[in-house]
Amino acid sequence: MKCPFCANPANKVIDSRISKEGNAIRRRRECLGCSKRFTTYEYVEEVLPVVVKKDGRRESFDRSKILSGIKKACEKRPISMDAIEAAVDRIEQACQESQAKEIPSSFIGERVMAELHNLDKVAYVRFASVYRQFRDATEFLEELKGILNLKEDKGENKARAEKPAEEKDSRRSSG
Ligand SMILES: [Zn+2]
Repeated sequence: MKCPFCANPANKVIDSRISKEGNAIRRRRECLGCSKRFTTYEYVEEVLPVVVKKDGRRESFDRSKILSGIKKACEKRPISMDAIEAAVDRIEQACQESQAKEIPSSFIGERVMAELHNLDKVAYVRFASVYRQFRDATEFLEELKGILNLKEDKGENKARAEKPAEEKDSRRSSG
């Protein structure tokens, strides 16, 4: 680390402490050339793998893309932005923890599916129908059956004519 005053590369650390937020180490240094003091911060580099698409194209990891995909699936569903953000956080974390340089886009897709499955079954089916492109029709129908049964249990088996969502409270969360 060059001295900002005289560009001398030699210096000594005279104090080292962790930042208030705990995400950085602050080091107070003294230049061995001019004896002036300066501060450096050390952060953990956020390493997110490159995403490999089905056709082999590479894309840098894009959190906003995952967020907008989940938001779209959850449109007009009773799901808070906090819950959606938390789901995206978990997916991002899983990608980070994989410690891979590259991950297939399916790695993310499967995690989005799992998160939506926990969040909201309708959102899950919306996403699954696009994501799996009806390739696996049987599995998809099984999934639908499960959801329809769920509705029956609640005594509201009006799945055929889904009314347009009446928004009593129009707290629209736009990103
Ligand atoms: Zn210096």
